[in-house]
Amino acid sequence: MIKGQCLCGAVQYQYHGKIENSILCYCTDCQQAQGSIAGWNSAVDQTQFELTSGREQLKEYFHTPNKARVFCQNCASPLYSYRTDLPDIIRLRLGSVTEGDIPAPKEEFFLEHKPNFIELR
Ligand SMILES: [Zn+2]
Ligand SMILES: [Zn+2]
Repeated sequence: MIKGQCLCGAVQYQYHGKIENSILCYCTDCQQAQGSIAGWNSAVDQTQFELTSGREQLKEYFHTPNKARVFCQNCASPLYSYRTDLPDIIRLRLGSVTEGDIPAPKEEFFLEHKPNFIELR
């Protein structure tokens, strides 16, 4: 069981599946959206994802027409994104996970934007 929440705690969720893999994405969209070095995400099954509180705090931002970036409008924590043409898969923002196992990233994308002070062990 995976549990997670936004920074203010208004939005809480559980994921009933297992997180099989994770990726780091250094594209500028991810960097700006997370305010950080990379997006750390995992594609998970939407049907196994359960919001346990704070649904009314969720807001969607469309930076590109078919991709919703979902965040808490109270504290601005990014929580997940999904493509409108593939709504059964959500990309969970793994920094929001508070409980459960997350595998180390196996793949990195947009390495040209990866800061040279980052090394993966
Ligand atoms: Zn929040
Ligand atoms: Zn990206």
